[in-house]
Amino acid sequence: MHDTILVIGANGQIGTELVAELRTIYGDNKVIACDIRRPDYDTRNAGPFEFVNVLDKDNLKDICQKYKPTMIYLLAAILSATGEQNPKLAWDLNMNGLLNVLDFAIEFNVRKVYWPSSIAVFGPNSPKDHTSQYCVMDPNTVYGISKLAGERWCEYYFRKHGLDVRSLRYPGLISWKAAPGGGTTDYAVHIFHDALKKSSYSSFLSADTRLPMMYMDDAIRGTIELMEAPADRLTIRSSYNFSGMDFTPEELAAEIRVHIPSFTLGYVANDPRQAIADSWPRSIDDSYARNDWNWATRFDMSRTTEEMLKHLRK
Ligand code: NAD
Repeated sequence: MHDTILVIGANGQIGTELVAELRTIYGDNKVIACDIRRPDYDTRNAGPFEFVNVLDKDNLKDICQKYKPTMIYLLAAILSATGEQNPKLAWDLNMNGLLNVLDFAIEFNVRKVYWPSSIAVFGPNSPKDHTSQYCVMDPNTVYGISKLAGERWCEYYFRKHGLDVRSLRYPGLISWKAAPGGGTTDYAVHIFHDALKKSSYSSFLSADTRLPMMYMDDAIRGTIELMEAPADRLTIRSSYNFSGMDFTPEELAAEIRVHIPSFTLGYVANDPRQAIADSWPRSIDDSYARNDWNWATRFDMSRTTEEMLKHLRK
């Protein structure tokens, strides 16, 4: 079967790399990049692009009618730190965007839907270390609340309508191609840019704030592996815990010093992102992903650091 794939929110940190990888696998013209923002040069020239607002049902319906997609990847969202600045807008986009896509997926017989969740679904009373798939979940950001509710909707549509919807709880994603979109883990990208530019960085998270992270290549590979896994292997239809590595700003700085010995790390006090980070897990137990569809990470902190510095130097 020839798949036609819509990627909605294609111009962001993940979409930029996911669209390129999907086009390599399925063919340039089979992957339709959709966003409310104009794409960068690569995305626009490698294959079709459409302006789509996921909150505009008529717009979304026209695109579904035009392309008759067999798969939809929904990436449009407002992330954790930005969401706190405009909670109602974040709720509207993160929730109604998802419901619109789930409804049109049923109406247009879409075979599979992908929608990412986040470690933000956990909260202050969730276990901090090796946080398990099933535990207390009391997110206290609007982003986390919308992701947890979204997970429940995904499972509901799977059970009620038989929609093949799949999801991962991404940790903080580290990449060099596109800028991060306003999350609490963004420091782990900015630090590499500043290390090369000024040999110093001021972190908005404190020295010992440990958070789960992943290099983008692992995230893209894991996403596609999940989407290609046989449906009967998947025991989770809300969202899978998904783990790469975990580190603190201080540990990452020490790793950067292996390559740039003069690098110094300072700290900015009282940043609102600290409270968000403090409510999240320090590390994640992703044994369901490992057992169900053989997930295995390839990039640890040292390999990620090497890759980031190598690509950004270019
Ligand atoms: P991003 O902010 O970089 O990109 C989101 C894209 O969606 C942007 O290009 C934006 O223009 C587009 N968009 C916004 N509103 C839209 C609308 N109404 N209609 C169509 N497009 C719209 O985000 P990202 O980092 O690429 O994240 C993608 C998904 O992954 C989100 O669901 C996010 O919650 C999730 N996630 C990301 C991370 C991370 O570290 N990047 C971690 C956990 C989960």
